Amino acid sequence: MTTQPTTPDPAAATAPMVQIEGLHKLFGDLHVLRGVDLTVQPGAVSVILGPSGSGKSTLLRCINELEEIDAGSVEVAGERMGYREVTRRGRTRLHRLHPKVVARQRSRIGMVFQRFNLFPHRTALENVMEAPVQVRGDSRSTARARALELLDRVGLSDRADHYPAQLSGGQQQRVAIARALAMDPELMLFDEPTSALDPELVGEVLGVMQDLARSGMTMVVVTHEIGFAREVADQVVFMDEGVIVEQGAPEQVLVTPREQRTQDFLAHVL
Ligand code: ADP
Ligand code: MG
Repeated sequence: MTTQPTTPDPAAATAPMVQIEGLHKLFGDLHVLRGVDLTVQPGAVSVILGPSGSGKSTLLRCINELEEIDAGSVEVAGERMGYREVTRRGRTRLHRLHPKVVARQRSRIGMVFQRFNLFPHRTALENVMEAPVQVRGDSRSTARARALELLDRVGLSDRADHYPAQLSGGQQQRVAIARALAMDPELMLFDEPTSALDPELVGEVLGVMQDLARSGMTMVVVTHEIGFAREVADQVVFMDEGVIVEQGAPEQVLVTPREQRTQDFLAHVL
């Protein structure tokens, strides 16, 4: 009788990039996230849909620790964000991590916002070089070479010396993506990255995001671009009133949604 070679534990091989459990967030009396569970596998793209005010931005901000959470946990690449558990005399409590540790955790996550938030008095190249030089301490020549590579990747090598005001909204947003990538994030968060753009500029930004997804980047994308969700997402999540109403494969959620609230929302945006 032959013994089978031991295969690696498949669960260990696919440890989630993002694991959110029982997440609650309040702003004063306003209970904005009311028990969110979400798992994103490495290399996967999750698209989050939902009406305005449903808590999508807050969810992204909790992943990135731009908000302190009220209950539950957020893990990125197996590391709990923002807090550590301390058990003393059988009681487990959460302790807020030191701001330096929080900053290190945050630096593993790139975020792109609806508004491009570029530094107006710096060129595209300088915008992309800023964090590697200032935060990570890269030499200017290293940061410059890498920034040029990233600008090339988003199709803007010929705009490196332009200031934001000299660029279209779509170009500015592509610089913002290059800037986020400059810190070599393991995870990219996008909060309605095309909502502020003129319609004719949306495609170039979605194209860059699609390339990024193909390259294997793990992404969580809040967008109303259903076409992007259908083509690029591995998982579509529909949120309403601070909970995930429905999630699944794009065809399932977008074409044959189970929940009435999802159907109503899609009827509005499609
Ligand atoms: P979405 O991105 O889905 O439109 P948000 O996460 O931005 O929703 O907001 C969810 C709810 O939380 C809204 O009612 C919003 O007004 C409220 N909210 C968001 N940020 C804050 C804040 N910093 N202080 C108070 N209320 C907030
Ligand atoms: Mg929002």
